[in-house]
This record gives sequence, C-alpha cells and structure tokens, in this order.
Amino acid sequence: MRQRFEMAGVSVPAGRRTTLELPIGRLMSGGPMALPVLVLHGRNDGPTMWLSAAVHGDELCGVEIIRRVIGSLDPRTLSGTLIAVPVLNVYGFNTGDRNLPDRRDLNRSFPGSPRGSLAARIAHLMMTEVVNRCSLGIDLHTGSDHRANLPQIRGDLEDRETLEMAERFGAPLSLNARTRDGSLRAAATRSGATVLLFEGGEADRFDEAAIDAGTAGVLRVMQGASMISSAPEGPGRTRLSWSSGWVRAGRSGIAHMEVGLGDIVDKRQVLATVHDPFGKRVGTLRARVPGMVIGLTQRPLVNRGDAVAHIAELSD
Ligand SMILES: [Zn+2]
Repeated sequence: MRQRFEMAGVSVPAGRRTTLELPIGRLMSGGPMALPVLVLHGRNDGPTMWLSAAVHGDELCGVEIIRRVIGSLDPRTLSGTLIAVPVLNVYGFNTGDRNLPDRRDLNRSFPGSPRGSLAARIAHLMMTEVVNRCSLGIDLHTGSDHRANLPQIRGDLEDRETLEMAERFGAPLSLNARTRDGSLRAAATRSGATVLLFEGGEADRFDEAAIDAGTAGVLRVMQGASMISSAPEGPGRTRLSWSSGWVRAGRSGIAHMEVGLGDIVDKRQVLATVHDPFGKRVGTLRARVPGMVIGLTQRPLVNRGDAVAHIAELSD
C-alpha cells in the first residue's frame, strides 16, 4: 500500500481525498483565516501535481476549472497526488479584489517569506506546503481590467518538458513567456517544477469556453503524466507563438470591435473602429502583424492609449 501523504499535521491515506485548511493567521475581527486545500492522494504511485487559481482574487474561471477537475477524479484510481488550491488569494477572493488588502500583488510576492508582508507570507506557505513537493503544476488565470482572454497557455516553450505539457494541454494557443520576478510560475520553476500558466476568460465572470478548455486541458496533462487513464479528446494541435503585443487606441471614443477572440487576422486588418457619440468615425485600429486575436477589451469606452486587442504572432 502506498504511503500516506502528510500535510500540515494531517495524514491522508492512499486512495482518499481530504480537505484541509492551512492557517494564515487571524482576521482583524478575530476569526481564523486559512488557505483551503484539497489533497487527492492516489492509490497508485505517480507524480505530485498542484493546481492553483485566484492568485488574483477576482479571477474566478480557474476556481470553477478546479471544481470540475476534482469532481471528475477518483483517488482510488488516481496515480500520484493532486494538491488543489482553488482560492490562493483568500483575502482578495472574499472582497472581490485582484490584490491583497495592502494592494500588493500576490503574484509578485513569490517565493515569499515567513516574516514579510501578508502576501509574502501566503506565498511562502504555498511554496513550502504545496509547490516544493510537486514536480508539475498549473496556475489558472483570467484577463484583468475588463479584458477577456482566449484560452491560452503561457510558459517557457524553449524548455522541452514545458512545451510537451503545453501541447498535451491543447489550448488554442500557447505563448512563449518569460517568467516575471515574484510570480508563482518563476518561483516554482526555480524549485524544479514544470509549470504552465493558463489564461482564459475575464475577471469576475464565468466564461464557459475558457472553463471548458481549461478543465479538458488539465485532465489531458494529468493523462499525459499517467495520473489518470482517460481525458477529453483534444480539439487539435495548439498553435505556438513566440511574440505578442497589444494594439492600443490612437484616439479616445467609443470602440466597435470588428474581430472576436480566436480570429486569425492579416497585417493591417481592421480590429476596431472608434467613433464619437454621434457616430462619426475618429479612428481605426489595425493589426500591425498577422496573427491570432488572444485578448480583447470588453469595455467599449476607450481612452487614447488604452489596450484594445492582443495579437499573437503565429510561428507555424
Ligand atoms: Zn491573474
């Protein structure tokens, strides 16, 4: 029989799922605050993997992706161990905020420290209890600031294992992205894990296409790691991109989008037109390069300089 999995004083037998609460501290009102974690400890040997969501507290699609993934798994047939952390920024999640109460970005606070800011302490807890024990992991995000993202993977595609994992995930697009200092992805990579970042949908909303793509992708990665025996069929090959950029409004006004997420656009193709309130056209946004539309503002009111459409150049 496989050994038990120990975390924060709780012992999970092989073939069982257990929820636990990692203590963070106390709320200002006195009650305890904890990081909710679910451990699915498979009956059979295999890798240890984490899933995390809501490192930005208002990014909800990943919370739902994790709910669907863990609902479909049976620890009696699972090989390896899955550690699910659906609400990493518990403070922001409860107040509908991206960041922590002191406005720090938790995803710029890794690997953290036990004596730093609140963000640094949560980051440290996540690293020591979860990430440092995992050989692979997926961090789930959505767009921010009223921007919607096409389901996409961001990762170090020059790393062969990361590229293979992105291909198994099978999002419509995988974008090579350098890690940013202080991010969970950077700290986890340094600790030796293979990491994917998933982006899809927008903050504060459930986006069915993104949730669907994310759930299926996570299960395909688990299947690829031999943790489960079956997963939803892939929609096809993920397109790869090594470069992307936002097209910004040249004039302030009311934007009308001419493209949708996932559209393939030519160089100079019109992405949006900008009008004044009487309907007079004051500007036209065009693609500077050919590529795929992977992010779009959902807000029709734009100031000059606002990011409107995110275009990824396709390498294949
Ligand atoms: Zn995010």
